[in-house]
Amino acid sequence: MIILTDSCPVCNSKNIEIKTIEYDFPEIGKSLLYTFKCNSCNYRTFEIIPLEDRGYIKIEYKIDNKEKARKLFLKSPYAKIILKEIEIEITPGIESKFEIRAIDDFLMNIKNNLERFKILYSDDKEKYNKIIEKINYIEDVLNNKKELTIIIEDEKGLSKIY
Ligand SMILES: [Zn+2]
Repeated sequence: MIILTDSCPVCNSKNIEIKTIEYDFPEIGKSLLYTFKCNSCNYRTFEIIPLEDRGYIKIEYKIDNKEKARKLFLKSPYAKIILKEIEIEITPGIESKFEIRAIDDFLMNIKNNLERFKILYSDDKEKYNKIIEKINYIEDVLNNKKELTIIIEDEKGLSKIY
């Protein structure tokens, strides 16, 4: 989290500026927007910390056609994501941020991560094959050949598909 940093994550310089702006975002309500700028290497980033708590929500979303895969997914830092049919669970961590992207883009990203990590299991044939199965399944979903249920559990109710 950039608000906890005292130096630039890219070049380690301490010549940084962090500004805080309170902002009312249409989808997530009142939030603090932190902007980070490094005066040495010019690296910039930002982070949004929501101030609203809308209460626990659970969204179950079935992707069974291309149109549904193209919907936008606003993922809050508190969201736990479960891909039901392939038993993938993504739990929120300290590094979690607001993300907004299309569902298919989100799945593509998970697939790419699995591709990258499969090598770690190359000496465990069973685990390795399971990962390949998941990768193939996501590919089939992206090609509209299989269905996938995304379950989103958000303790502050800030995630949304629209
Ligand atoms: Zn820097």
